[in-house]
Amino acid sequence: MSSNQDAKNIGNYINGQWKPSVGGGSQASINPARKSEVVGYVPDSQNADLNEAVEAAQAAKRPWRKLAGSQRGALLFKAADIMESRLDEIGETMSREMGKTFPEAKGETARGVAILRYYAGEGMRKIGDVIPSTDADAFMFTTRMPLGVVGVISPWNFPVAIPVWKIAPALIYGNSVVWKPATETAVTASKIAECFHDAGFPAGVLNMVVGSGSTIGQGIASHPGIHGLTFTGSNEVGKQVGQSALKRGAKYQLEMGGKNPIIIAADADLDLAVEATISGGLRSTGQKCTATSRVIVVRDVYETFKEKLLEKVKSLKVGDGMDASTWLGPCANEKQLETVLSYIKKGKEEGAVLLYGGDRPDEAGLADGFYVTPAVFDRVTSRMAIAQEEIFGPVLTLIEAADFESAVDLANDTDFGLSASIYTRDIGNILNFVQEMDAGLVRVNAETAGVELQAPFGGMKQSSSHSREQGQAAIEFFTSIKTVFIKP
Ligand code: NAP
Ligand code: MG
Repeated sequence: MSSNQDAKNIGNYINGQWKPSVGGGSQASINPARKSEVVGYVPDSQNADLNEAVEAAQAAKRPWRKLAGSQRGALLFKAADIMESRLDEIGETMSREMGKTFPEAKGETARGVAILRYYAGEGMRKIGDVIPSTDADAFMFTTRMPLGVVGVISPWNFPVAIPVWKIAPALIYGNSVVWKPATETAVTASKIAECFHDAGFPAGVLNMVVGSGSTIGQGIASHPGIHGLTFTGSNEVGKQVGQSALKRGAKYQLEMGGKNPIIIAADADLDLAVEATISGGLRSTGQKCTATSRVIVVRDVYETFKEKLLEKVKSLKVGDGMDASTWLGPCANEKQLETVLSYIKKGKEEGAVLLYGGDRPDEAGLADGFYVTPAVFDRVTSRMAIAQEEIFGPVLTLIEAADFESAVDLANDTDFGLSASIYTRDIGNILNFVQEMDAGLVRVNAETAGVELQAPFGGMKQSSSHSREQGQAAIEFFTSIKTVFIKP
């Protein structure tokens, strides 16, 4: 192994070196399937660590941006190859650290590889336009400049894909990076940083500092040496981060929560709709920002859909994500489990009917993990807390709509606007949904989750700062346009 951190004690990665926090503090990252298992000890960094990382990124940014895009791209291609050679190991670490099943974790790591390759290619694509000047002798064009040092704050639910879809475009467009991964998944994060290190990126171009959100996250948001800030996480934290960035004039981008609807129209293929509801709502234990949680079913097919859904949900096997027979892993941490259980309680108090699940499984072997059985609530009304607030767990809420028009109104009856889907065969319904649905991602006859790396991704309403990530959209955040006018 080319990194010099040992298997259990994870370091920060600053200026090309692995090192413990200056204060020496660390904390355990544990396996949510078996809380007695420590996956690794990760730094509990302090401001001094962050300052060192920002200084390194400052020193690295100028030589880095002076390289040809293709030279930066060559390093990203190398990091992709290294990550690809470590798919199993990184996937397993992710599964053990935050609970998603191994196939999902490995698939996400493969996604990370594809994202790296996509942005590696960006180093050779156009970064400007020629615009005719009104002065016949002049030549006018735009070019794209990097922001400088970009701060990346990422969550635990996609510990590889999300940081990579931020770090890769930041780097290819010539920025240097200071990254704070979620503490919850910092062991996985350190393996990503190793891929960059082993690819031979110059020291200081990518730095990773692990520490609490309140110290290192807030520190990044308010650090005068960081010029751009990209955040994915909860609305509460995102708004604080945005305010800190705004106060000091830094560019920022926030991707936050969702409460995503699926509409089942009267003419839907109900079997496919059931599959999509389960996959979209319950994979990754419901811990996707694009997870389906509001299941809006038109009255004519409500009972039939409900019975089909229940039958399938009851067959899902809960267990350790590393066990090949598991369909649904544990919640990522204890707090997440408590949140889910508290919403189950709240839903019942609000008058919804819990048809299935929502309790701790009683099988031997699962007692030591943060498990909850997938829950289905019936007779939910749109204004109930379980239908409005992001639970981030395996909870489906069934809402009956009188007809198609009211189904679309119900789907829009939320402060969020990340993703939405519909099952129908009627072209009129489809066009109406695509036009009327206030969400950044709308999918027809497909689940609400399912983001493609080459397409723009982001939310409307409270789900984002109205910016977009991924695909060609990334250049908008990670660069600044310079208009150039040249007269001989
Ligand atoms: P979170 O608590 O907001 O944490 C996100 C990141 O912010 C973590 O790195 C966290 O560090 C850090 N942080 C915490 N407090 C901070 C503060 N005061 N200042 C600056 N940074 C701070 O969210 P999470 O629980 O990890 O992730 C779940 C949320 O992310 C859900 O709401 C989900 O919808 C959202 N999400 C959105 C998208 C999207 O693209 N729209 C994608 C995935 C997830 P620590 O981990 O060390 O606390
Ligand atoms: Mg953990």
